Amino acid sequence: MKLVGARWLALGLAGLPVTGDAHLTGEPGHDAAASRLALAWRPAPVLALVAPARAAVPLALGPAAAFAPFAPAVRVRVEGDFLLVESEGLPAHGMMTGITAWQQQVPLPQPYTGANAWRIPLRPVPAAAGTPIRDRFLRGAIALAVNGVPIFNPQNNRGAVSADIGELDRWGGHCGRGDDYHYHIAPLHLEAITGVGRPIAYALDGYPILGLTEPDGSAPAGLDVWRGHESPGLGYHYHASETYPFLMAGFRGVVVERDGQVDPQPRAQGVREALTQLRGARITGFEELAPRSSYVLRYEVRGAAGVVAYRREAEGVWRFRFEEPGGDIREVTYRAGERRGGGKGKGGGPRREP
Ligand SMILES: [Zn+2]
Ligand SMILES: [Zn+2]
Repeated sequence: MKLVGARWLALGLAGLPVTGDAHLTGEPGHDAAASRLALAWRPAPVLALVAPARAAVPLALGPAAAFAPFAPAVRVRVEGDFLLVESEGLPAHGMMTGITAWQQQVPLPQPYTGANAWRIPLRPVPAAAGTPIRDRFLRGAIALAVNGVPIFNPQNNRGAVSADIGELDRWGGHCGRGDDYHYHIAPLHLEAITGVGRPIAYALDGYPILGLTEPDGSAPAGLDVWRGHESPGLGYHYHASETYPFLMAGFRGVVVERDGQVDPQPRAQGVREALTQLRGARITGFEELAPRSSYVLRYEVRGAAGVVAYRREAEGVWRFRFEEPGGDIREVTYRAGERRGGGKGKGGGPRREP
């Protein structure tokens, strides 16, 4: 596969390639968030005007345009039959608040870049039979939201529906054992940025996931067993729902299943041990104090407050300060690649999650 000369595309809202780091969005709230992301992103991405040979296929209708409102935090490029999508896996919206079943993990920027980028098939291939996701694909992502945040199966890796047991924040996400933020339901709130009826995610088989309605606001009709259907102009697409399965019910397109997950897919990079659920904990607040480098999470256990504050000291080096509800205070520095075992989890390896 030829990588030399491949360049990242930056796309404006209209789906037209643009250059430089100019603002790409017009929606005020999102604009502020995007500019925060733009400041945070290091190293500076190469944003180049590129007209790939495939541009004859109207990009405005394809996945590249769907991710465009989230540039430059999310960057895409075409490589063969795939759209490669780079992100740090963190949304511009709030995180963590509202979780009542917390595994003590927190959001860290993830290196979904280069060879570890997401791969969305540009030409989805319908499978002969399709593949249900219930009780399968319980590890790793099954879709990628257009803001660059992975979406996991609505069931967690023990088979429980995450949304039903307090594991998710107000935006439908939480963090896995690599401190990797991901959703377990469709991020319908992204329609406030994408526009109603625009894709809010792409399943890893390459088909788009729309929200609850069609672009004209009407309810989808004639959904198949995967919660998808074909329609003129849009082609085949899935629709999200507000109850289980929240996303598509399975892959209509071809995917490779290996070790319980869609293969290949990027890996999260944890810097510390995987933890266990802190019984009785409720997350009450989460703040980004400095873009992508300093955070504070607040929680309560039976009325007593706890804090996890953490900051990036260097690339891959994070200093954590734990203020336990009982009054104990600990500070620990973690380095990527030196993930500690502590008997609670294994370092490295494929992504796992609570
Ligand atoms: Zn999860
Ligand atoms: Zn539809």
